[in-house]
Amino acid sequence: MTTLTLTNAGLVLPSTSGGRASVRIEDSVITAIGGIVGNDGEVVDLEGSLLLPGFIDIHCHGAAGADVNEDGLDGLIEAGRHLARNGVTSWVPTLVPDSKENYLKAVEAIEELMREDPAELGAARVLGVHYEGVFANENRCGALRTEYFLKYSEEALADLPLPSKGVKLMTLAPEVEGGIDLIKELVSAGWVVSAGHTSATAEVLDEAFAAGLRHLTHFFNAMDGIHHRTLGAAGWGLAKEGVSFDIIADGHHVHPSLLAAVTRARGIDNVVLISDSISAAGLGEGEFAVWGKKITVSEGIATDALGTISGSVISMRDAFNLMFRKGFSFDEASAMASLNPAGLLGIDRETSSLEVNKTADLAAWREGEVVLTVIGGKVVHNAL
Ligand SMILES: [Zn+2]
Repeated sequence: MTTLTLTNAGLVLPSTSGGRASVRIEDSVITAIGGIVGNDGEVVDLEGSLLLPGFIDIHCHGAAGADVNEDGLDGLIEAGRHLARNGVTSWVPTLVPDSKENYLKAVEAIEELMREDPAELGAARVLGVHYEGVFANENRCGALRTEYFLKYSEEALADLPLPSKGVKLMTLAPEVEGGIDLIKELVSAGWVVSAGHTSATAEVLDEAFAAGLRHLTHFFNAMDGIHHRTLGAAGWGLAKEGVSFDIIADGHHVHPSLLAAVTRARGIDNVVLISDSISAAGLGEGEFAVWGKKITVSEGIATDALGTISGSVISMRDAFNLMFRKGFSFDEASAMASLNPAGLLGIDRETSSLEVNKTADLAAWREGEVVLTVIGGKVVHNAL
């Protein structure tokens, strides 16, 4: 058995934020939280840094120059290392519409990585796959390539490759032909279904809800906004009981003040922060090739030649920081970055909060920076 003890931690506990304490980890599991928890084995003094459950990013196309669709196993590891340095301990690699051949290659790489020990690689844990499209609305394509969009049929769905285990997440437009049947099919097969890249009306979304849809992808973006007399997707997402959404918390995709307002309105429990980061994340400003297009990153915004915003260049750390700056407490920001995404994916019993018997996927934060990341009980990033 290996033991790791993190001392002098400011804690974000599920109930209340407490004073400083220690956290003991045996192998990959948190075994004690409190005053004195034993100090044999490896000891790391957090010097008062805030200890959080590691961030979970359910919508990420890559980072550090690596793209989920294009760059195979090495790319996933490269992106995963960048994520880990930013406090992300788990992520769902997110595929944009692509050829059957490329899908297959990408999912094979995901499958291969899921068999590895993420801590050994120093890379964030891969939880499964997120298909953003291919059953989306061309009129709301955003940066997605419409030439790879498919019409829904049982065969088309069965053709999408999947890893043999892990979470299956799909962003779809309920209004596509057969969209409601598609939702039923996915829900019964254990997928997490989310509406996005959609022009769905509230009526269609109500049907989708009856079919099992409970979530919306990158709230406000690639859907109808709010009009006081017309309940578009965004209005529906705010008004409908039992619906949650994720939202790109980069401060550009949604105005920070509106981000804060809709989060308060919908309630913290129903909001999941995402990065929607692209491969250019972590590389600074410049021009990059992403999905066959030239993307320019300037002042933290990634745009294509037409000026369309094309994913973000943030990490979940930045999302957490933004919510904190907008007045949310550490507990609230942490829930939206860890517990809530885990709940959506159905893995919140294993990880995503600081509790005994949970997997030790942790991030220590100080003044906006992630100073330590622990994955499965092993330190993978230490900048203390
Ligand atoms: Zn995306």
